Amino acid sequence: MKILILGSGGREHALAWAAKRSPRVTELVCAPGNGGMAALARCVPVNVGSVESMVELVEAERPELTVVGPELPLSLGIVDVLKERGFRVFGPTREAAMLETSKGFAKRFLQRHAIPTAGYAICTNHEELEKAVDRFHPPIVVKADGLAAGKGVLICESRQMALEAAAGLFSGVLLGAKEQQVIVEEFLTGEEVSFLCLTDGRHVAPLVPAQDHKRIGEGDTGPNTGGMGVYSTDSLLDPGMREWVLHHIAQPTVKGMADEDTPFTGVLYCGLMITAKGPQVLEFNARFGDPETQAILMRLESDLVEAMEACVDGRLSETELRWSPGASACVIASSAGYPGSHKTGFPIGGLDAAARIPGVEVFHSGTALKDGQVVTGGGRVLGVSATGEDLQQALGRAYEAMAEIHFEGMYYRRDIGHRALKTKP
Ligand code: AMP
Repeated sequence: MKILILGSGGREHALAWAAKRSPRVTELVCAPGNGGMAALARCVPVNVGSVESMVELVEAERPELTVVGPELPLSLGIVDVLKERGFRVFGPTREAAMLETSKGFAKRFLQRHAIPTAGYAICTNHEELEKAVDRFHPPIVVKADGLAAGKGVLICESRQMALEAAAGLFSGVLLGAKEQQVIVEEFLTGEEVSFLCLTDGRHVAPLVPAQDHKRIGEGDTGPNTGGMGVYSTDSLLDPGMREWVLHHIAQPTVKGMADEDTPFTGVLYCGLMITAKGPQVLEFNARFGDPETQAILMRLESDLVEAMEACVDGRLSETELRWSPGASACVIASSAGYPGSHKTGFPIGGLDAAARIPGVEVFHSGTALKDGQVVTGGGRVLGVSATGEDLQQALGRAYEAMAEIHFEGMYYRRDIGHRALKTKP
């Protein structure tokens, strides 16, 4: 079958790599793709910010399955439009994707269905804010309602800072666009775990858990990024906790969405905080996470495309996901200056030597091809992922491969997995 993957990041490269391994796939098209995906698939241009552009492409290519990688096309309703035109597409509808695209919607949904999450208030003006911030002890969490590419959450050390942060979101000073509503939230402490599941709207199939590293600096310091590294081990969630999350968070969310006539199909990403009171939902995403997907798919032994088709066709209960035991890790290399302004266009060397290390895959995030040479093309440039019998081995391989790669201004964190290694020396 012919499959089309929309998007151009490390997540999409990892999806393309997993799709390529499926015996079902005879033709793989990525749009727009990147310098790394071009080695696996035919890359064709598309504007993932334009429904018209994506529909035109799908009408021309006529894939038997379209997989939507990023959140932007989901928020624009690409799944609804493609389904109306009779195409098979993996991902949630615009209304279902509101679990990610509106944090206010997600919080109200969680409360309606008694799914554990931090206490919150949704504010639309300054008076409501003043009252809301008094309900919480600092640090106070202030969140933009809409999509903010990881920049919409502010942890405020005082009441005054929370008011200023919220004012910045309302006025548009912080994110560019003016927020109509702002969420003020209780600060939770604990270990963060990313719990992703495939769902056909009724059944839920969990992926292996992962933990990501959002801050740019070692020791989890400095500004937030799209993610500087991630690892996956089963021990992130012991079997009892995993069952609990499945029965008290993932399944009730999928059932709640179906009961409210907005069935959710695709990937439900539950961002969890494992607090002393148990797991609580920090956020939902309506798609595969990046870089989580890079580490997670390294451990998938069964056929991803078969599972995605089962989601689209409403028969996920017939499919079983099989995972390799052990661990995987992904370390991201970024351009100097990221997450601030950065230069691009620098040649990348050592990719072949890195890929030769056993158990290693290099997935490109922001790269381009210039006269046959792979060059940097974004803030996050590439991710080196590796599997191992345990986390130490996976990280050792990833860092060994990373040492082979070079480009001007290359930066990566050397402490990915440090929290797990500290607790399990
Ligand atoms: P979100 O986009 O909502 O996942 O938030 C991004 C990051 O902010 C999370 O991964 C957490 O590290 C942090 N965060 C969000 N909400 C809270 C909260 N209520 N308490 C503590 N940290 C939070």
